[in-house]
Order: sequence, then structure tokens, then C-alpha cells
Amino acid sequence: MKLPTTPSLRLEGKRAVVVGGSSGIGLGCAVALAEAGAHVVIMARRSDLIDQMVAAMQLKGLLAEGAVADITDVNNFAALIARLRPFDIFVNSAGLARHTPALDTKPNDFDAVMNVNLRGAYFAAQAAAQAMIDDGRAGSIVTISSQMAIVGGVDRAVYCGSKHAVEGFTKAMAVEFGQHGVRVNTICPTFIRTPMTEQTFSRPDRVRWIEEKIKLGRVGKIEDIMGAVQFLASDAAALVTGTALVVDGGWTAE
Ligand code: NAP
Repeated sequence: MKLPTTPSLRLEGKRAVVVGGSSGIGLGCAVALAEAGAHVVIMARRSDLIDQMVAAMQLKGLLAEGAVADITDVNNFAALIARLRPFDIFVNSAGLARHTPALDTKPNDFDAVMNVNLRGAYFAAQAAAQAMIDDGRAGSIVTISSQMAIVGGVDRAVYCGSKHAVEGFTKAMAVEFGQHGVRVNTICPTFIRTPMTEQTFSRPDRVRWIEEKIKLGRVGKIEDIMGAVQFLASDAAALVTGTALVVDGGWTAE
């Protein structure tokens, strides 16, 4: 009898681009992909932070390089992505949060958040897909979305709106790009301590809220996302597209 073989989670020979790979969840993704054997290009705006993280990864023997880019500058971003071809994995972890009560939302804050989380993410995924299709490569595109793409949260109407929209374009792109073998998915994390969430974690009422909602009884760690991104990037997820991998400790189960 011939037993089935588990498809590989290894990524040797693959090239990955990780936007926002210089900090927080994106850095976790970059390290996870490199630890699985991929050559990783870290992209973000601040070159000093990119250089620091690339050097730290190289010191561990990981294959890493850096490139400076801003996803809101969509034309230049697309041009840079085209120059980084060919690649097989594209992860976008760039994000912005400006939390206020919904009644106090100012148009400029709304625009700034949507510009990064929705417009930037949309055209970044488009540029990545175009490169994969042009190269005839079956690729994996992952946008770091949020549990706030599934539920609402206090002071988070704009952020939730932006992340719900990410789920929408992810599904629609998956429908269109399936014929090219390009998979499009999101990861939806719960609260994780990173530079982005410093302000939230400095408020005891918010920490109580988070600890109550996470059924597994602790806040998220960057490490909680690392296996999820390895899976979605790998052959083990060969039939996974147009969906969200929710890593929320049970927050949205209720
Ligand atoms: P973070 O530590 O602040 O990291 C954000 C990264 O994105 C940095 O590398 C930053 O570098 C880069 N970046 C920001 N704006 C960019 C732009 N316009 N163009 C290119 N790169 C840009 O944040 P994080 O907490 O890891 O968040 C990462 C993603 O996860 C976000 O999409 C966030 O919404 C989502 N998320 C976070 C949590 C959480 O609890 N932390 C939970 C759910 C979802 P530069 O500033 O140098 O560009």
C-alpha cells in the first residue's frame, strides 16, 4: 500500500519579498520564510532598520537582502517589484492604525489609513501578481490583515473598514489569479506586542479587554504568525486560496 506524503513546508530555491519586514509581524514573516530556506528581500521605508534586520538575519546564516520602498507610492513600488523579479512569495505586512471613536474620525486620518492598509495593499498585491504571471510562476501572495477584518473593535471603525476591505480584494484576486497558479490569502492576527500596538498596550483598560477576549488566555506573540506564513507560502497550502488564516486565540469564535 502506498501511503500519502505530506507536501513540503520547506522553501529552498524560492525567493520571497516581505514588505514591512523590518519590524514586528513582518520581521517574523521574513525570518520564518528564510528559516524555511527562502531568499528574502525585506522592504520598508527606513533603510537603517532594514540594514539592521538584514545584518541580524545574515549573522544567523539566513539569506536576506533589503530594498527601500513605500507601498503608498504605487507606481515606483510597482517598478521596484518588477526589478526584483523573479520571486515566488510576496508578503505585505505594512500597515497603519489611527484609532479614535468613530464620531471623531477626521478625513485626513481616514485617508492616511486607507492609503496604506487598502490602496497600498491592493496595488502591492497587484504588482506582485503581475510579476508572478509575467514570469509564469505559481506564487503565493499573503497580506497581513487582522482579526479586525472579521469583527469590530472600539475606536477602530476606520482600521476595521480597511481590513474588511482587504479580505474582499483578496477573495476577488484569488478568483482571477487562480488560472495562473497564483494564490492570494491573508493572515488575520489578534493583538501582538509590536511598535504599532505600543499605545494600546500602554492602556490597562485595553489590556483587560484583550485578555478577556482571547480565549487561550494570553496576547499574541510574533512567533504565533511564523508557522502560518510558512504554511501559506509552501506547497503544503497548494490548494489554499481566497481565504484568511485566523490566528486570534479564539477572539472571533465568540
Ligand atoms: P510595525 O511593527 O509597526 O511594522 C510595520 C512595518 O511596515 C515596518 O517594517 C514599517 O517600516 C513598514 N511600513 C509601514 N508603512 C509602510 C509603507 N507605507 N511602505 C512600506 N513599508 C511600510 O507593525 P506590526 O504590528 O508588525 O503590523 C504589521 C501588520 O500587521 C499591519 O498591517 C497591521 O495592521 C497588522 N496587524 C497587527 C496586529 C498587532 O497587534 N500588532 C494585529 C493584527 C494585524 P517603515 O516604517 O520603515 O516603513
